Amino acid sequence: MLPPSSSNNFKNILVCGGSGFMGSHFVGHLYHTYPSYRVFNLDLLTYAGNNANIRDIELHKAGVPLDGQRYHFIHGDICDRGLLEELFRAHAFASVLNFAAESHVDRSIISSVDFIRTNIYGVHALMEMVRKYSIPQFIQISTDEIYGDVPDGYSHEESPIRPSNPYSASKAGADVLVQAFIRTHRVPAIIVRSSNNFGPFQYPEKLIPLAITSFLEGKKIPVHGQGQHVRSWIYVKDFCDAVDTIMHTAPRYTIWNISAGNLRTNLEVIHRIADLLGKDPKPHIEHIGDRPGADHRYAVDHAKLHRELGWAPKHNFDAALGETVRWYQMNQEWWKRIKEADTFRLHYEKQSKAQYY
Ligand code: NAD
Repeated sequence: MLPPSSSNNFKNILVCGGSGFMGSHFVGHLYHTYPSYRVFNLDLLTYAGNNANIRDIELHKAGVPLDGQRYHFIHGDICDRGLLEELFRAHAFASVLNFAAESHVDRSIISSVDFIRTNIYGVHALMEMVRKYSIPQFIQISTDEIYGDVPDGYSHEESPIRPSNPYSASKAGADVLVQAFIRTHRVPAIIVRSSNNFGPFQYPEKLIPLAITSFLEGKKIPVHGQGQHVRSWIYVKDFCDAVDTIMHTAPRYTIWNISAGNLRTNLEVIHRIADLLGKDPKPHIEHIGDRPGADHRYAVDHAKLHRELGWAPKHNFDAALGETVRWYQMNQEWWKRIKEADTFRLHYEKQSKAQYY
């Protein structure tokens, strides 16, 4: 049951996709940083959603009377317009942030229907509600992958959008849809385009948690091509801090790249993890075929965010990677449960052999 809309003087914030990796960190960040915010988390709990990621908040709020509680979970779909109507009508959100998405490139190559549905249709449904209920702020979590391959130099906020795979195309579709709603309807939206995040609670099909957990299990790590693809990495706590800065200080109708500038090849990342675990990486690495349409390099420039809003990352890449490795060492139950489930195993059988059909 949700609290009545008028209870207390809380500022109501809706986070969509708050049970996933980045969304759960951001929900925790808001909850613990702003005692006057009441956070609603709307999440469909797909294979990537996991309420164990926010168990500390559930424990924290236990025993608090309903109208004083500052965190509420709603199990539902951002494509469900009826449900959105109910929520938007009842809660007068001060801000809506959309993290909900299908987020794994490999899965989008095998089948992209859910990507188009959630990442485009779902964003459209949210935009219509933001418009209809005159929500003062909407923040769309977009990605550096919409810029496509960046052979050299850096992508700026005005760089062309050239997605290469169905995931990045669906995110690009959402990104330009939000831009169109800004221009046509003056919807007070903001777009953030982040580079690759890493940290605790990341689903272990993604490179860093896959490498850490595979080392811990004594298994092979599938590496696309020669492992020379370059990605730009940001610790999830720095990402949350950047979104907080944007949420509280950025003007409406703006677009922001978020990055910490840590460019590394996939092989460099795996070797660093091996160092942290005291392992020899060679016997663990298995080179597999490249992704069709693979992007060789992503690199975004976050100079605008630094110059105009004064934001800078606080975490050193190696230290944050060390913290992440320790978290996966200490929380084996969390990831073993995921890796044993069919939703992981059935996909991983294909991912680990570069099978895209
Ligand atoms: P994730 O896959 O870990 O989590 C996605 C969450 O969205 C899950 O909790 C899932 O249950 C929920 N969800 C999916 N479909 C939904 C629907 N129809 N309705 C409601 N909830 C739904 O993703 P993540 O890695 O935390 O990424 C969060 C956002 O940030 C995504 O939009 C992604 O595109 C973007 N992003 C991710 C990265 C990265 O490195 N992970 C980088 C840049 C941008």
